[in-house]
Amino acid sequence: MVKLDPFANATQQVNDACDVLGIKDKGLREYLATPNKVLRVKIPVRMDNGQIRIFTGFRSQHNNDRGPYKGGIRYFNPEGGVEYMEREVMALSSWMTWKCAIVDIPLGGGKGGVYVNPKTEKLSDGELERITRGFAFKISEIIGPGKDIPAPDVYTTGREMTQIMDTYNKLHGNISTPGVITGKPLSMGGSLARNVATGLGVAYCVREAAKALKLNLKGAKIVLQGFGNASTFAGEYLEKMGSKIIGVSDSKGSISIPSGAKISKLIEFKTKTGSVVGFPGSKKISTEELLTTKCDVLVPAALENQINAKIAQNLKCKIIAEAANGPTLPEADPIIFKKKILVIPDILANSGGVCISYLEWVQNNMGYYWTFDEVANKMEGNITKGFKDAYALANKHKIDMRRATMALAVGRVVEAFNQKGIWP
Ligand code: NAD
Repeated sequence: MVKLDPFANATQQVNDACDVLGIKDKGLREYLATPNKVLRVKIPVRMDNGQIRIFTGFRSQHNNDRGPYKGGIRYFNPEGGVEYMEREVMALSSWMTWKCAIVDIPLGGGKGGVYVNPKTEKLSDGELERITRGFAFKISEIIGPGKDIPAPDVYTTGREMTQIMDTYNKLHGNISTPGVITGKPLSMGGSLARNVATGLGVAYCVREAAKALKLNLKGAKIVLQGFGNASTFAGEYLEKMGSKIIGVSDSKGSISIPSGAKISKLIEFKTKTGSVVGFPGSKKISTEELLTTKCDVLVPAALENQINAKIAQNLKCKIIAEAANGPTLPEADPIIFKKKILVIPDILANSGGVCISYLEWVQNNMGYYWTFDEVANKMEGNITKGFKDAYALANKHKIDMRRATMALAVGRVVEAFNQKGIWP
């Protein structure tokens, strides 16, 4: 077994939530922690040089008590190898169960992937398509619009989603089933608002957190770590709510802009120069200085494990909105709680993506498509309710938002499980 075990972390979080909810039944705890099914498949592919290469793929179906499994498919090669990837996919499928439950969408948790890195391997389009269709063929029996609905994840895009849908449809007698997968291009039945979903969801969460703290977002100071899809749209929508960006970073470094910078100007500068570093009127600072800048809202939107105990001690923000997955180390949580900083945990803060995925599936199933505003408004409803429910639970039990969010989600799944019972 690999040393660092993401699935053990996911299991620990389920057990913590059970503690909050007073669930003592060991069997129920195990039921909630472990995936219902983990499929591991062999994908033989004829490469461009004529040789056969075997790839390994996974699909973990964690829980479907509230609805069909839902979760991404990643093409990646984590350092721990194939065995580590299996544990990672299992953990990620567990987090999807909780993410869907928090925002109260009728879906469960799944995750999958193929152990391959298309970026470093420079695979041809033909090789990638054969891997994708080979994987889709192997998992086609366990996916479907009422069973398990995959989506894009690390290094997969709308192109791979279209190929999976097409393979599934042809294997099922050429039916048209766009709802078998989400994250499709618009021309293939994708949804409007997908590109802004995560950032917009972060902004909705921040707005609710600010209301809870009676913090006026007009003139509020925002720091963004990372300057990609999630952070630029989060920044743009927070800007529309009256806030200003006073610190930002990307892989080349961090900058402080005390007088504030417009997102559109930062994007323009980055497009021209390749980085936000050097933005006129800014000062280059370290990552630690960026994260500990005095501000109202800190949005970590780059990598995991950024906020450790030392950084937590020095934080000077009022709200942390975790756009990135896992940006805060467990050692930092009690320190942040003590400092009365309101954390919007990743599974709630970045749930905009899965909300829009759900709405894409709904549109596909009814064959009728909504406008951008209709989709965004529906997502707003799910996310604000998720925040309010978690915040109420945190206050009721006097616990931090991370534990409250998990407890809320686990409680919802237990409720569904209890309705159905065990059969066969
Ligand atoms: P992205 O690739 O568009 O952007 C990532 C940004 O992080 C880039 O600007 C990159 O330069 C920056 N970065 C990389 N290394 C850095 C470093 N050491 N310091 C500072 N910045 C660094 O990715 P994204 O889609 O915006 O995703 C960001 C995070 O949000 C990830 O953790 C991802 O899992 C999470 N997330 C994204 C979505 C989504 O729909 N985009 C959904 C859920 C979660």
